[in-house]
Parts: sequence; structure tokens; C-alpha cells
Amino acid sequence: KARTVLLATEKAFAAAAVGKIESVLKEANYTLKKLENYKGKDDLLAAVAGVDAMIIRSDIVDQAVLDKADKLKIVVRAGAGYDNIDLKACEAKSVTAMNTPGQNANAVAELVFGMMLVSARNNFDGTSGFELVNREIAFYGFGAVARAVHKLAQGFGMKSFAYDPYIPADKIKEMGAEPVSTVAGLFEHQYVSLHVPLTDETKASINKELLMKMPKGGSLINTARTEVVHEADMIEVLKTRPDFCYLCDVAPKDIEPFKAAVGDKYGKRLIFTKKKMGAQTAEANDNAARQERDMGVAHNQGYPFGDPQNKDYSIKGSKR
Ligand code: NAD
Repeated sequence: KARTVLLATEKAFAAAAVGKIESVLKEANYTLKKLENYKGKDDLLAAVAGVDAMIIRSDIVDQAVLDKADKLKIVVRAGAGYDNIDLKACEAKSVTAMNTPGQNANAVAELVFGMMLVSARNNFDGTSGFELVNREIAFYGFGAVARAVHKLAQGFGMKSFAYDPYIPADKIKEMGAEPVSTVAGLFEHQYVSLHVPLTDETKASINKELLMKMPKGGSLINTARTEVVHEADMIEVLKTRPDFCYLCDVAPKDIEPFKAAVGDKYGKRLIFTKKKMGAQTAEANDNAARQERDMGVAHNQGYPFGDPQNKDYSIKGSKR
């Protein structure tokens, strides 16, 4: 019997990307069922019955979805992270969960530099700013996005540091960054850029104690997840340290208290993109939808994770 793959995207992929998915599945003799731009959870719950596989983006696959998905064997998240998939519930039903980290890495990395440059030049307000050359950037998590930022940082003449307990220190060194052995060690550098997935371990892990350690002009860049930063602490640090900057692609629900903390420095010391924009480029939109077979990363099947294009530096395991 032909297998059915459900493409469930509340925010649809680019048409060209969908065309590529269609042709791959056709060749494999699979049936594609499309649920694009759906309006509510009920639509998703109705669509999952009887499908063998699912392709999603930021769509939520929780217990309710899995309960209705009676035939489901695999769910593939086109994107990085797994925080929209209930991995425990998947494991209980022997459903494999995979994602495609790395496909949007360059898009996010370019945004990181966009925000750094805007902040360093005071949002081009006519006043004198500073240059990035010779400055230090430290990465919390050294996966696909962090490595893409590191590559750009090298071009800018910056010095990189990285903390990632899942990557051997000599591998980090080999990639041209200085390994750091504790999270706190990252906060000795002017820029700290967050590239960890949202897990119990990383949730609210960026707190006042760490942020207050940062040198003068310390800047935190967050393109990971809003929940990684302790919200109340961040507001307090923005209030008490007039030199500190927060450059963020993953804004919290209510940005007003943050804006109030910096007053007319919003857009310079504090940047929030209008909505999560890191992966929003034509290229990333296309890449994420068509990662090659064997390059995807399975959470619970013992595949390596890390940068799929750079398997040497990835680690076996499924801590996430
Ligand atoms: P990735 O899986 O390639 O890298 C994540 C890295 O974090 C891995 O190297 C892993 O070893 C490391 N890590 C895990 N737990 C850690 C911990 N407790 N301490 C230190 N390191 C830890 O993923 P990626 O593609 O680099 O993306 C990173 C995160 O960025 C994603 O999980 C996602 O939340 C976010 N992201 C956001 C956007 C956006 O649009 N803003 C786009 C892509 C990714």
C-alpha cells in the first residue's frame, strides 16, 4: 500500500520548495497530502489520521496530534530545534522525530551580523559608533548556526570563543574558536551569542548574575529562543547597565517593559526584530524544505546530531 506523507504547514513553504517535495515523493511512489496555511488545531487533528509520515515547520506536534495520528512513524521538522515536538510522546509511540539543523544557518548568521552592525553604529543616527574588528564573540552552543556566525566573525577579524559540552574542545579549536569550559566563562567577552536549543538545561539559563559579569559594552545576541533568557533579569540589567545591549530575534510576548528599560535607546541598545526573522530568506526557505536524505537528524534513532554537513564534528546521542 502506498505510504502517505502529510505536509502540515501553518505557514506554507515557498511554492518551489513544495514542488521539489512533491517530485521526490512522486518518484518514491508516496502520496502527498497537503495541509498548508491551515487556520486551527482542529484542521491538523483531522489531517493526521492515517498518515505514515509528517513534514512540519514550527507546527506543534503534541500528545493530542499523536493520539489522532494512528499510523504515524516519522515526523520531520524542517528547521532546527525540537521544541515544537513532544519528544517523550513520540518515543512512547515509537515515532521517530527528525529535524534539519544547518539549512537556515547562514540566514541566521547574517541576521546576527546585521543586528551587531546596527547596534555598533547607533542605528545610523549620525553619531560615531565602533568597529567589530578585533572584538570578541563567545558562542553558547557551537552547532550549525554558531559555526556560520563564527565563519563571518573570522571575516570581520573578530576573535571567537565557544562553550558546547557536546563537542570535544580540540574540535572547537580545530574550527578556529577558543573552547570555554563553563557557561560563565562566555560572559567575559563583549559579545555573547546564544545558539543552544531550548531544553530544561538551557531554559532561563541566562540570568542577571551572568549578564552583570559582562565587560563594558557587553551585548547579548539571542537568535535561539526567547525562553533561554530570564526575562525579569534581562529587564533589570537593561535598566541598571546603560552600556549593555540586547539584540534579539526571538522577542518575548510583551516587549514593552524591555523598551521602557532603555527609553530612546530602543533600536540601538535594544533590538527586537518585528517577528522571528532569522530563517526568513528566500534561500533558507528553500533549503529547509529539501534537506538531502541521510542528512536529516533523528532525535531518537541514534543518528549523530550537530551540523549534518560536517559529521566529523557531530556527536552521537540525543541529549536534546
Ligand atoms: P544545532 O543543533 O546545529 O546546534 C545546537 C548546538 O547546541 C549543538 O552543537 C549542541 O551540542 C549544543 N547544545 C545543546 N545543549 C547545550 C547546552 N546545554 N550547552 C551548550 N551547548 C548545547 O542547531 P542550530 O541550527 O545551530 O540552531 C540552534 C538553535 O537556534 C535552535 O535550537 C533553534 O532554537 C534556534 N534557531 C533559531 C532560528 C531563528 O529563526 N531565529 C533559526 C534556526 C535556529
